[in-house]
Amino acid sequence: MVEQLRADGFAAELLDRNATQEFVAAPLGPEVVGAKLNPTAATLHSTRLVHGLLAAALRRGAQLCAGPRVISLAAHGSGVRISTDRGPIDTPVVLVAANAWLGDCLPALQDLVTPVRGQALCTAPVPPLLNHGFGVAFTPTGEYGQQRPDGRIIFGGCRAVAAERDVGVRELSPETGVQTALDSALRRLFPSLANIPIERRWAGTMGFSPDYLPIAGQLADLPIWYAGGFSGHGMPFAAPLARALAAAALGDVAPPEMAHFRPDRPSLRRGSERHV
Ligand SMILES: Cc1cc2nc3c(=O)[nH]c(=O)nc-3n(C[C@H](O)[C@H](O)[C@H](O)COP(=O)(O)OP(=O)(O)OC[C@H]3O[C@@H](n4cnc5c(N)ncnc54)[C@H](O)[C@@H]3O)c2cc1C
Repeated sequence: MVEQLRADGFAAELLDRNATQEFVAAPLGPEVVGAKLNPTAATLHSTRLVHGLLAAALRRGAQLCAGPRVISLAAHGSGVRISTDRGPIDTPVVLVAANAWLGDCLPALQDLVTPVRGQALCTAPVPPLLNHGFGVAFTPTGEYGQQRPDGRIIFGGCRAVAAERDVGVRELSPETGVQTALDSALRRLFPSLANIPIERRWAGTMGFSPDYLPIAGQLADLPIWYAGGFSGHGMPFAAPLARALAAAALGDVAPPEMAHFRPDRPSLRRGSERHV
């Protein structure tokens, strides 16, 4: 992976165990043999990011209408009628950004985006341990985390221990099997955290596409544009795709970069589903 990242122009280093330990102020578990360091990677507080984006949009005159559930979208004159559980909304153009629920709003995409439950936990504050976001692969679906500036460690993953890997699960409640596996994985990584209290446990819904890359485009020839299926990796893709969707909606034509995410690409064909 380090070689491949470098070949693509990304900074990456392969660290042995001793070099890895230098980044972490607590003894690493005995299973850790080394690490891949991405020196330019960063972490952020995703809720603050979303609220910041919302505040910026409101400052620029956007109106927020939180609550209504979209039931369907259909052509209406030269625009679109959005049917919601609180009545219809008529509009010249729509951007659908429903990720895991994309197929609920646009049934034509139902087969391309599958809801998958992801789970995480948050520890009580601990003294500074590490400055970097981190990932491990104790289970085939991986684990990941970060220490927040307030000392709390957020740690998620372990989906592989769930029945069917939680593919197709829409419930937002955390579940004991995965959460117990997360407790154990955190201990294996940082044994000194064995008895740290867990303050919160939660689950969220990811939207997986068969090739783990997002899907974006225009619905038929209608003024309906969409993006979703971020496959647990919305951070790198969502902002550029949002820019592309906004340009598409304003210009009535897809910018060239959206072609990579078209729903008829070969890797999305039936039979290529991997959903792990
Ligand atoms: C536990 C967990 C950990 C994650 N960790 C990472 C990570 O470390 N890095 C990373 O890059 N990504 C991560 N992700 C993925 C990331 O959260 C998503 O890629 C990102 O949230 C997608 O943004 P979005 O705005 O497209 O969709 P979402 O944030 O999922 O928003 C979709 C919205 O559509 C709404 N909606 C759905 N149906 C309807 C309807 N019918 N009518 C009206 N509204 C509707 C939903 O309520 C929701 O608010 C994680 C996800 C989970 C669950």
